[in-house]
Amino acid sequence: MQNPDAIIIGAGPAGLACAMTMRTAGLKAAVLEKAGTVGSAWRRHYDRLHLHTDRRHSGLPDMAMPKSYPAYPSRAQMVDYLESYAARFDVRPTFDAAVSRIRPDGAQWRAETTQGPFSAPVVVVATGMAETPYRPAWPGSETYRGLLIHSSDYRNPQAFSGQRVLVVGFGNSGGEIALDLANAGIDVTLAVRGPVQILPRDLLGFPILSWAILQRPLPARLVDTLNAPILRLAVGSIEKLGLQRAAKGPRQMIEEDGRVPLIDIGTLAKIRDGSIKVRGGIDRLTPDSVVFADGREEKFDAVILATGFRSDLRRLIPGADGVLDEHGAPRVTGRATAAPGLYFCGHIVSPTGQLREIGIEARRIAEDAKRYLAKAGVE
Ligand SMILES: Cc1cc2nc3c(=O)[nH]c(=O)nc-3n(C[C@H](O)[C@H](O)[C@H](O)COP(=O)(O)OP(=O)(O)OC[C@H]3O[C@@H](n4cnc5c(N)ncnc54)[C@H](O)[C@@H]3O)c2cc1C
Repeated sequence: MQNPDAIIIGAGPAGLACAMTMRTAGLKAAVLEKAGTVGSAWRRHYDRLHLHTDRRHSGLPDMAMPKSYPAYPSRAQMVDYLESYAARFDVRPTFDAAVSRIRPDGAQWRAETTQGPFSAPVVVVATGMAETPYRPAWPGSETYRGLLIHSSDYRNPQAFSGQRVLVVGFGNSGGEIALDLANAGIDVTLAVRGPVQILPRDLLGFPILSWAILQRPLPARLVDTLNAPILRLAVGSIEKLGLQRAAKGPRQMIEEDGRVPLIDIGTLAKIRDGSIKVRGGIDRLTPDSVVFADGREEKFDAVILATGFRSDLRRLIPGADGVLDEHGAPRVTGRATAAPGLYFCGHIVSPTGQLREIGIEARRIAEDAKRYLAKAGVE
């Protein structure tokens, strides 16, 4: 594309949504994607993954997910949807174009890529938050002889048949992978380090996301106080299961700590019937065992780290003052940043669903970019 108004880095949901909203705003956007397809992250996720946000609240701008999809679409349906979205709005990314660095260059942003440099007055970083798996290490990790993988490398239970597996972490990936293994009859234990919050996927016949959206204008603490009794009823007692309920409610946990509560799709029932065992934090590893914080030592053939991701953009955007925090995460997502013409889309953990927020951000970014270009006289 000659002289684009914007460069969009990434052809996941956020990059596609921004490409569509920019186009609607009359802007020419070049989408640069390091993989060879759109939605590459969704092609890599584990087989049984279904959205935990409902279909009606997970579509991107101007194209709802098909009515033929179930309430909670599968990973494969999500991939099909992203492909259809790109086709419908004629988004044609430059594939195999990994962006190594972006920097301001006069009134332009210049992106260095494996396909040569690209320049435009606007750049949107839509590289996702799941680029870099976080792999904690414990004393003895290097001596452990079993399989030690991150949840992003887990596909299905087949490879674990007949093994004792420890899943570390009680987020949505940890809960669902443990459930997947338990459903396949595999001996599975969950290591849960600290207090947790658990939400049912549906409450009183409505998706939990609908409740979150309804309560969005209210302060987090009030929402958590109002919801606590009904959530206790819906989720039941978790203390008997060896879990501790966090003092902070789910909404505060998301907003203040960026931690997403477990949206339960059957994990708790498997813990209750003993198919999934629960242990506490990990103290150390030995060549064939895990020693937990309470001193208990158990043998495991495999350890799956469902310990999340860290997004550090400092190498991608060196020297953009005031844009990134001390961990390399954007200070602002979905609106103008401290660097003129630079935007981030989708770098958000939200009680109302990340896909839904991506759509809202993409619309806002396109409007803002259009105003910025008009003002800067570069349109
Ligand atoms: C397992 C899992 C389940 C999830 N389930 C839900 C759900 O049910 N509901 C919900 O609302 N949210 C969910 N999310 C959160 C979020 O909606 C998804 O991660 C979503 O894919 C985010 O879209 P994105 O475009 O920001 O990032 P991604 O989908 O990660 O896309 C980023 C793209 O950028 C490309 N890229 C990265 N770096 C570069 C570079 N330097 N140069 C060029 N290209 C680059 C990547 O290859 C990728 O294609 C889930 C996340 C995970 C990890």
